Amino acid sequence: MERATGTGRAVGADHGRAYPGRVLSPRQVVDYALQRRALLADVRAGRVEPEEVCDAGAYLQRAARFHGRKVEETCPVCRKDQLAQVSWVFGEALRHISGSARSIDDLEQLAAHHREFTVHVVEVCRTCRWNHLVRSFVLGTGRPRGGRRTAGG
Ligand SMILES: [Zn+2]
Repeated sequence: MERATGTGRAVGADHGRAYPGRVLSPRQVVDYALQRRALLADVRAGRVEPEEVCDAGAYLQRAARFHGRKVEETCPVCRKDQLAQVSWVFGEALRHISGSARSIDDLEQLAAHHREFTVHVVEVCRTCRWNHLVRSFVLGTGRPRGGRRTAGG
């Protein structure tokens, strides 16, 4: 039996120019579906007042309107409106941007230019102001610090 000597030369990683499409590759993804379900069960059972969980502030509501992405899910509390998901970014590397809401396009840009930052995806109902953390994850180039190069220009 002979083996094909496969010297698989997969050279062709064309980096540098422009964006190679969608570069988002989330790491350390944490899903909060269980906590969400538990909280909703408490609301339905009357153990938690709806006002306690439907407390999206003006800032969050505005973020949902401008940066939110509509999802195919009706609000689990009022069942009147479609939910919107807002992505909040956090991280030292982001400096003044940290703690703000960002669109998917923004996330891509940030992920291409920063080493590491955390994204919190929050769902918001604009009718009853229900809001809850859906998931969190880490984005960024992931390159270790040091070895910094100055690209002239
Ligand atoms: Zn609602």
